[in-house]
Amino acid sequence: MKIAAEQRPLADFIQTFRQELHRYPELSNQEFETTARLRAVLDEHQIRILNLPLATGLVAEVGKPEGPLVVLRSDIDALPISEKSGVAFSSENPGVMHACGHDFHASAALGAAILLKRNETSLPGRIRILFQAAEEIGLGAPALLATGALNNASVIFGIHNDPTLPVGVVGSKAGPLTAGVDRFTITVTGNGSHAARPHDGNDPIVIAGQLIGALQTVIARNLPSAENAVLSITQIHSGTTWNVIPDSAWLEGTVRTFSQSARELIERRFRELLNGFGTAFAAEIALDWQAGPPSVINDEAWVDFALEQAPAAGFEARRVAASPIGEDFAFYQQQLPGAFLMIGSGGPFALHHPEFRVDDRALFPTADYLANLAVKALEQLAQR
Ligand SMILES: [Zn+2]
Ligand SMILES: [Zn+2]
Repeated sequence: MKIAAEQRPLADFIQTFRQELHRYPELSNQEFETTARLRAVLDEHQIRILNLPLATGLVAEVGKPEGPLVVLRSDIDALPISEKSGVAFSSENPGVMHACGHDFHASAALGAAILLKRNETSLPGRIRILFQAAEEIGLGAPALLATGALNNASVIFGIHNDPTLPVGVVGSKAGPLTAGVDRFTITVTGNGSHAARPHDGNDPIVIAGQLIGALQTVIARNLPSAENAVLSITQIHSGTTWNVIPDSAWLEGTVRTFSQSARELIERRFRELLNGFGTAFAAEIALDWQAGPPSVINDEAWVDFALEQAPAAGFEARRVAASPIGEDFAFYQQQLPGAFLMIGSGGPFALHHPEFRVDDRALFPTADYLANLAVKALEQLAQR
């Protein structure tokens, strides 16, 4: 992607900054050094930082208080993964890695803040730039919303790098873009016995085995065919040895959905099946259902608007399919309209992979795109 000669120093700076963040990744809600690094650069450029009760993460602001308020969102946390990417600036924090590219998002948003600051006096309103903590555990967005930093905002734009798209492409779609993410655990408690005398108990392992098949029918036989969902059971633990039937079995997994109705249907059918199995096998079956972020639901008009601005920053705009990943950006969209945009980062490794890499060629263009998008949105809102 082309970068104008006069933009080179800033492009080089944010690339170096991105690689520093990559070298020192921090887990969700522990992003103390990351926050300090961001604060230092914002201070150096005399960019206002809101005084909010946040332990990590921060909100910067550019513009004047009169007029509309537009929000740009980035995230800053890393994952509990041991890095195997082989890059020169690999993680020096053992067992922690920027494997979701949040270092890229934060650095692009920082670049956008610096670009916006250059033309601050000409802005017809305000832009708040979120450097959000704790996205990976789904707690950062609700915490930021609780500070009131998005009150009175008209629109929010968020980005995520996407290794399935080539560098130079921005992808999005109206309506559901990411999945609602739920996590569940099931505990089957019955009566154990000697392995030779199963008739003395009710074998929780046999119950759990039949449950796994029955739960898959919720997707295959209860969900209308026009809807999509994923159900994966990812852990099952039971027993201690070969000749004893244990008295309990434990399962864990996740459900991914793209509508609130599918989400509610699946949880309801889970409860009905577990109750029925409990009665049928005289066992106690407990469900712990933990609702994570809902589906990112993009505003159609703002998605169109955001994709129209892509060519000005050198990007090709593309309509993409929905993805079963989760994103706590969805919580912001429960309060105000928003558009979440996927920025091609080239692959070949998937998000959350220990060899994951982002292509820095997309970094400055993303900063440029975000800054331009925010200004254009402010101008559009100021005319209303
Ligand atoms: Zn992630
Ligand atoms: Zn992510």
